[in-house]
Amino acid sequence: MSLCLNPDCLAVNPETHQFCQKCGQKLWLKERHQALKLIGQGGFGKTFLAVDLDKPSRPHCVIKQ
Ligand SMILES: [Zn+2]
Repeated sequence: MSLCLNPDCLAVNPETHQFCQKCGQKLWLKERHQALKLIGQGGFGKTFLAVDLDKPSRPHCVIKQ
C-alpha cells in the first residue's frame, strides 16, 4: 500500500497508484520515493517510512516533511 502525503488526507492507496484516489495528490515523491506509513509526527512536521523505488533492492528510507 501507499500512503498519501497530503497532511489533510493521509488516505491509504493501492501500491500501483501514482495519484491519491481521495485527494488526487501525487503519491510518489520525486518519482522514486513511495511512502508506506506515517512513523512520527511533531512540531517539526511528519516523518514517513518510504521505499526508494530507484534502487533495485528497494531499500527503506525515511522522508521528513
Ligand atoms: Zn490524498
